[in-house]
Amino acid sequence: MADNTNFIEEIINNDLESGAVKEIITRFPPEPNGYLHIGHSKSLWINFGMKEKYHGKCNLRYDDTNPSKEDVEFVNSIKDDIAWLGYKWDKELYASDYFDRMYECAVGLIKKGLAYVCDYSADEIRNTRGNLTTPGQNSPWRYRSVEENLRLFEEMKEGKYADGEKVLRAKIDMASPNMNMRDPVIYRILREKHHRTGDKWIIYPMYDFAHPLEDAFEGITHSICTLEFEDHRPLYDWVKHNCGFGDFPKQIEFARLNMTRTIMSKRYLKKLVEEGKVDGWSDPRMPTLSGMRERGYPPEAIRNFCAAVGVSKSNSEVDVAMLEHFVRDYLNVNADRMMVVKDPVKLIVENAEKDEVYEIDNNPNAETPTTHKVTFSRELYIDREDFAPVPPPKYKRLVPGGTVRLKGSYILEYVGHKCDETGKVTEVTCRYIPDSIQGGANANIKVKGVIQWVNAKDCVDLTLHEYDYLLLDGDGDFNDRLTPDSHRVYPCAKGEAALKDVNAYDRFQFMRMGYFSAVKDYGKDGKYAFNMITGLKDSYGK
Ligand code: ATP
Ligand code: MG
Repeated sequence: MADNTNFIEEIINNDLESGAVKEIITRFPPEPNGYLHIGHSKSLWINFGMKEKYHGKCNLRYDDTNPSKEDVEFVNSIKDDIAWLGYKWDKELYASDYFDRMYECAVGLIKKGLAYVCDYSADEIRNTRGNLTTPGQNSPWRYRSVEENLRLFEEMKEGKYADGEKVLRAKIDMASPNMNMRDPVIYRILREKHHRTGDKWIIYPMYDFAHPLEDAFEGITHSICTLEFEDHRPLYDWVKHNCGFGDFPKQIEFARLNMTRTIMSKRYLKKLVEEGKVDGWSDPRMPTLSGMRERGYPPEAIRNFCAAVGVSKSNSEVDVAMLEHFVRDYLNVNADRMMVVKDPVKLIVENAEKDEVYEIDNNPNAETPTTHKVTFSRELYIDREDFAPVPPPKYKRLVPGGTVRLKGSYILEYVGHKCDETGKVTEVTCRYIPDSIQGGANANIKVKGVIQWVNAKDCVDLTLHEYDYLLLDGDGDFNDRLTPDSHRVYPCAKGEAALKDVNAYDRFQFMRMGYFSAVKDYGKDGKYAFNMITGLKDSYGK
């Protein structure tokens, strides 16, 4: 094995070598109570990565045992997002399909004297659980007979009791140093419509009971979960063994992904959506996978990022700049370069008599370089920022009396400019220097800068959307950290003609501006808009 084997792979390798398991089967088990976020991509990368590496299987299993927050919209979005990331699950399964079998397992525990119906309220259970230094107290209901427990549990199922009136608890050890082992609740009464089973059930299994069973029913070999479940592993094993399963599935924990300036909790993301702070779960500012898709993040970049973060046993926070680094790293090789001006100013090339056509490199970093056509004529647009009537210090673009090179075309000499009554520049006039195109006799004349431009004759009107992080830097309550104006719109941008015929989600580098992605309905109803994916400057690891 290569020496970059991680600790999960080491466990799997040992289990394969000892012959304990033959085929590796993992699962990705989302609760369908929200959209997947960038944190989930790490779990996806690990679970599907193990499937790929060991030629095994990985199931998509909806952990839908809690009816109150789950929804079909979420079920569908989760599938779309996993497919977008490029992963293929072997089976699509629902924990709710196992409700009958789970019920049978619970009955089995009662018969073995390992579970009992308890009449305590939620508060009473909490108050008798003890704490890290004091043991809990046995519930008076712990001594009910098997027969009575069987009858009461059946009655719970049949609807004889109100929500919360009774629960089923595992009979383990109220003095256990592990709080999770102090007679945890394994079934509760909840009259809530389930997105798949409707009103069939009014009792629902608790996560710690349901999860090991789901894994065991499916023959999962390695149940990979996040670190906060480490303390639940004894209970996971207890359920598994006492319900008749062997040493597998084996639970393995890894540290969840945390990232600076990024909300990684569905609960809070949901709040942003419900309070209208963002434009739905797929808002390009959202750290959801569907938000990143709208924003234009390449799925390959997300996978590369996950691989670089790797897996570990200790929690840490990754700099969001690292994710952006992998986005740029991918786009630098894969995105064609195009010219766009964000805030156009007319530029007249007064000595230009005929139109010209150039072949411009799509991407100097591509494996097989290609080109596209750019046209030049007497009337162009340049960006307002690229001409300064009164230049600030160190300004390297067009100034009165100066020269500048048009990217892929001539060197221009300043002739004059016009302003409106407020002093705003409305038009710039220049002359081109003959033979100054790259390779020409005058191409080596020194200029201060190179600027992008578009041809007024054939350019396309664009709207650009730029985004900031949703959260300001720092820690503290998310509510106090929302970035004001995290979405800026530039409705009057102009792009070169080639941008007319591109498809939704096509990604480009707009020269000197950043990486942009065509919006999902690009070109429909005359709407030509791009979302900014990320800027050009990489602040990561420098
Ligand atoms: P949230 O707190 O956002 O609701 P969750 O852990 O409850 O997250 P689930 O839908 O239950 O979300 O998660 C599906 C899988 O993704 C689980 O195995 C979970 O451990 C994993 N996961 C969730 N968030 C992260 C994260 N930030 N990093 C790594 N794995 C994660
Ligand atoms: Mg959850």
